[in-house]
Amino acid sequence: MSERRRFAVHGVVQGVGFRPFVYVTATALGLTGSVANDAEGVIIEVEGADAALDELARRLHADAPPLATVTSVDSESIEGCGGTGFVIGATQGGDRARTLASPDVATCADCLRELVDPGDRRYRHPFITCTNCGPRFTIMTALPYDRATTTMAGFPMCPACRREYDNPRDRRFHAQPIGCHDCGPHLELITPGAESVTGQLAVNATRMALRDGAIVAVKGIGGYHLACDAGNEQAVAELRTRKRRGDKPFAVMVVDLATADELVHIDDAERTLLGGARRPIVLLARRPSAAIAESVAPGNPDLGVMLPYTPMHTLLFGIDGDEQGPRALVMTSGNLGGEPIVYDDAEALHRLGALADGWLRHDRPIEVPCDDSVVRVVDGAELAVRRSRGYAPLPVALPFAVPSTLAVGADLKSTCCVAEGRYAWLSQHVGDMDDLATVQAFGAAEKHLELLTGVVPDQLVADAHPGYHSSAWARAHAAGRLVHTVQHHHAHVAAVMAEHGLDGTAPVIGISFDGTGYGDDGAVWGGEVLLADYKDFRRVAHLAYVPLAGGDASVLRPYRMALAHLRAAGVNWDTALPGDTTLASVAACPPAERDVLAHQLDTGFGCVPTSSMGRLFDAVASLLGVRHAVDYEAQAAIELEGLARGINSSDGGSGYGFDCAADVFDAASVIRSIVADLSAGVDTATIAARFHAGVARLVGELAGRARADGGPDTVVLSGGVFQNVVLLRAARHALREQGFTVLVPTQLPPNDGGLALGQVLIAAAG
Ligand SMILES: [Zn+2]
Ligand SMILES: [Zn+2]
Repeated sequence: MSERRRFAVHGVVQGVGFRPFVYVTATALGLTGSVANDAEGVIIEVEGADAALDELARRLHADAPPLATVTSVDSESIEGCGGTGFVIGATQGGDRARTLASPDVATCADCLRELVDPGDRRYRHPFITCTNCGPRFTIMTALPYDRATTTMAGFPMCPACRREYDNPRDRRFHAQPIGCHDCGPHLELITPGAESVTGQLAVNATRMALRDGAIVAVKGIGGYHLACDAGNEQAVAELRTRKRRGDKPFAVMVVDLATADELVHIDDAERTLLGGARRPIVLLARRPSAAIAESVAPGNPDLGVMLPYTPMHTLLFGIDGDEQGPRALVMTSGNLGGEPIVYDDAEALHRLGALADGWLRHDRPIEVPCDDSVVRVVDGAELAVRRSRGYAPLPVALPFAVPSTLAVGADLKSTCCVAEGRYAWLSQHVGDMDDLATVQAFGAAEKHLELLTGVVPDQLVADAHPGYHSSAWARAHAAGRLVHTVQHHHAHVAAVMAEHGLDGTAPVIGISFDGTGYGDDGAVWGGEVLLADYKDFRRVAHLAYVPLAGGDASVLRPYRMALAHLRAAGVNWDTALPGDTTLASVAACPPAERDVLAHQLDTGFGCVPTSSMGRLFDAVASLLGVRHAVDYEAQAAIELEGLARGINSSDGGSGYGFDCAADVFDAASVIRSIVADLSAGVDTATIAARFHAGVARLVGELAGRARADGGPDTVVLSGGVFQNVVLLRAARHALREQGFTVLVPTQLPPNDGGLALGQVLIAAAG
């Protein structure tokens, strides 16, 4: 039996080699017909034997190219029209593009082979790509994805590249960014006071400069990195000084997995991520023997490691025949302090002028900046910390259709999200909305996202915080559209519900632990138990309020939070410890500040009540002498986790107990136990482990109470505090032991970087 069928394929199917895949598959099955892109995805019309048509339908799912994500295939019988051969139709425009754009992809194995093959015409071509790899998101200026709508539009193909591009059987068929030594972009090394050098000479000179301790701005896929030899303490310390970076860790790019193995412990799941197509920075436990400069990640138990993801990176480390340079490079975003990453060439010379000794750059423009992504692996599953390059703009499939919406997230780790129908798209990481440059970058990222998705938002959603820059941005750009506001922790819980495909008909127990979020009562929330669906939430319990004195002052100086918690627990600040020493937090607080703080805590002057779990972690870190002042978010908690990791979980026992009343759980008893252990001379690592175990047990107790009050069996863990792997593991274990279904963030970060998705769903349900 012969018949003609029409398949409509939806998902990430454009710019990923899908049409050639269909061409090759259909012709191999003896089918005739055509394949074309349209505004909704890929349309295939094929005619032939029933069995062959069924087989094609199967292979569309089973054998799709590695970068494709097929979300659905609709199939219908249509009238046969005979014909011979199979054609690839041109892209059909549409007034609304709804095909899904691909993220940027690391160099594939085939291209790497050609890169190092002296017989290949692209030997050492720093921009080698094919249908399976290379830049996408950061070079796309519009949809549909075509050479003309990328920043490669200004590079006319040479005849040899054109032949590959036009040949459906070539692995570069319609690979929009292709080029070669003759027609592709070029490299250039600019060094002040010296002649600029180009091509392979530029790469070699950069490698030697890095070996000799220089700091070089290197233009990559989504912006400029600042690079230096990760083994050279002087160079790394100099970079830290020039960048005014404080202690925030630098990521390291290593030449290969073997080198990574020498620096950090890597399990199978982590190895797959490190070498995979997305190529994020993976946070990995460092080996004590790691030959890495101390200044790379001071005080941090982990090292952020990534592998080269562009051909230029591979050449920078050197291939056969090259003089050797460093095997591990610090590769940190090219920016100053908290500014957005630099991606424009002129701006790089200007803004990085005082930071870099040289600029290795190329002439392929970057349309939008995109930082490296950061992930951890917990029990074999990915936990996003920063979702950006390699992930954006992959869509999140939604549990129900939503109106066209723009959600603007919060002010820290800012991302935005556009959604319509059954899809939501989160932007790349933009940064903290505390300076004008970031707010401008946010606007640019939002515009680009609308362009690539075709979503024209009818409504906006923002955090309920009256003082957030993101909320102000939403009001300023509303242009008459409705701006919903959403409670911070409700959005955290909803984001995880959405990621797991919950349709919201049944509520969940949402446990949201983070640093800061505006509460309905005007307090700073952050230790919350919510009974929530998308429509609404009820706050069933929270961490007992303590005064947050002087706002940011107490966020940046954890000893102030420790003193507030000590006072709330009725512990005298003068408590003597063995050896006639005082509590570390008390010693860290200058006497004059101590007096003012005591007065503030007594009178409530300049204080806001807070239930923040993040601040409790800060307080404990200070009490243990781990960290009294921070210069990046969660620094104290990260170092406290590092201390606890050295202890077997069983040595932490069941942990310190919180006082749990009907709707409040109080840390006072925990604080008193910690001081008692300090007085008894218990080592701080054990105390840190007992604290983590206590918070995990608390999570189990809170969920158990909520269920006993008629709550559901499903618990959502959300909020930045759950980036803590020791806590996340133990809390999940405690919940599973009680038979709960536990949902945790995986694809989206538990921190505010994932918040916008939750805002979309809440606005849609409300
Ligand atoms: Zn490739
Ligand atoms: Zn060419």
